[in-house]
Amino acid sequence: MPVSPLTDLSRLCLHTITTKPWSIEEATDRYAAAGVKGVTVWRQWLEGREPVRVGQAIRAAGMEVVSLCRGGFFPATDAAARQTAIDDNRRAIDEAAALGAPLIVLVCGASPEQSLDESRRQIADGIAAVADHAQASGVRLAVEPLHPMYADLRSAINTLGQANDLCDALDLPSVGVAVDVYHLWWDPNLEAEIARCGQAGRLWAYHVCDWRSPTEDLLNDRGLMGEGCIPLRQIRAWVESTGFDGPIEVEIFSNRYWAMDQDEFLGKIVQAYKEHV
Ligand code: ZN
Repeated sequence: MPVSPLTDLSRLCLHTITTKPWSIEEATDRYAAAGVKGVTVWRQWLEGREPVRVGQAIRAAGMEVVSLCRGGFFPATDAAARQTAIDDNRRAIDEAAALGAPLIVLVCGASPEQSLDESRRQIADGIAAVADHAQASGVRLAVEPLHPMYADLRSAINTLGQANDLCDALDLPSVGVAVDVYHLWWDPNLEAEIARCGQAGRLWAYHVCDWRSPTEDLLNDRGLMGEGCIPLRQIRAWVESTGFDGPIEVEIFSNRYWAMDQDEFLGKIVQAYKEHV
């Protein structure tokens, strides 16, 4: 079933990295003024701040904290580095709890010095090591599969099928999945794997942007919705057919957009959200 255009902003959430030049205070003010309803806070935006106060300010401005981005990066060739990652993820869980973020997005990590299979084993071990702390803290963990071009350094979990397999193997109530169209739009199994997420009740976050063609930078050339080749309405239809009716999170890393006036960019985001998401 096709989905209808989003005529209001009640589900619009922005990642703070989307408007990278803005501090958390500026982002909170400007997002609220634009009618944005949710914020996913990247950890760098908490530096030098009390997460509790940041969360209070976001809610006082009429928005919700949707998630904290990001935990993960579990794999490493030496055990001490893996333990450091686990400790850091525990701190992220504490920050999320203080912020009032119900979810942490996990960019799971990878090391080019070892096999992807070994990295995947370490990811499973790392998540298992922090899941109880997440559960006790009232914070859920969403595994975000990343496009395979990031399999060397950022994530050994590259398809939604792998994320579902990982969640099945872990079988932990605090561990689910984040679907990001930028990473997954190309996958011929995407519809079936989104449905599998739905059946397991683990589709907890939905991130949007677009895939510019040609892409000029593998990290920081994401497109605004509508300026690329991702079938956004098709994927949203699959996501919503699972019953998902939560926030739609705009996550754009873009040197070109970070270089422009951010108020103007925010206006473009709102317009693109209504026209293309
Ligand atoms: Zn994402």
